[in-house]
Amino acid sequence: MEHINNFFLNNPSSTQVALYAVIILTLWLIEVTTLATSWKDKWKHTLTNLWFIATALPVQLLMTIFVLMVSLWAVKHHCGMLFLFPHSGSFVVKYLIGFILLDFCEYLYHVIMHKVKPLWNFHLVHHSDLELDVSTTVREHPVETFLRMCFLIIWVFLLGASFGVLLLRQTIQTVANITSHTQFKLPTRANNIISWVFITPNLHHVHHHYQLPFTDRNYGDVLSIWDRLFNTYYNSLPATEITFGIDTHLEKHLNSSFLKIIKIPFLKRIQ
Ligand SMILES: [Zn+2]
Ligand SMILES: [Zn+2]
Repeated sequence: MEHINNFFLNNPSSTQVALYAVIILTLWLIEVTTLATSWKDKWKHTLTNLWFIATALPVQLLMTIFVLMVSLWAVKHHCGMLFLFPHSGSFVVKYLIGFILLDFCEYLYHVIMHKVKPLWNFHLVHHSDLELDVSTTVREHPVETFLRMCFLIIWVFLLGASFGVLLLRQTIQTVANITSHTQFKLPTRANNIISWVFITPNLHHVHHHYQLPFTDRNYGDVLSIWDRLFNTYYNSLPATEITFGIDTHLEKHLNSSFLKIIKIPFLKRIQ
């Protein structure tokens, strides 16, 4: 058991990548075998999105080094909000409160990406997918990957988040993000219960609806409590009423290749 723990602690990045790959592949196979999409269409859509891994991975891995350096420095110097709590070395403060505050930071980051126009131009690449499925999880413009990691460095510095809580958050966030992008929705009753605390596929599908105000609802990453608290929560839309994509970029030809998609933020458009 200790060997396994040591492996996870010594190889956080490879563990995340492996976890990502296994969950995405499993859910992808379930989607394609149970839903009415042809293998050919599904594969074409998936392949376009998978190219984003090639740009995200080097940025993510390189910047993780800086995240961990900041984390080690902050913990060593007892710098950050978490050290202001009584019993700052306890499990509850380090892991539980640390996780909750990091999740709030992710909520804030997502709101910023929507509300600041130059940043939205990059985030809309994620929203421009006309067919939401598990592969949409990795559809992120490389500039957004860079920005997301820069923000993470700031959050880690401000909170004084330890390596342990970062690993915990990253693992839970990976599973939550992938499952919230699946084509499967929870039954209404289950969604009503789980969405009190967590972001469900039903909630995230609303976020991917092509029109406002729905695009500006359910910003949460793992927890839905921030959306409830700041009035950005929207429970569910019937599948028949949801159109995935973003109203300013519904042209199919923009989505036809990876190279076209990464140029989207730089296109001059009349809006
Ligand atoms: Zn968004
Ligand atoms: Zn999404």
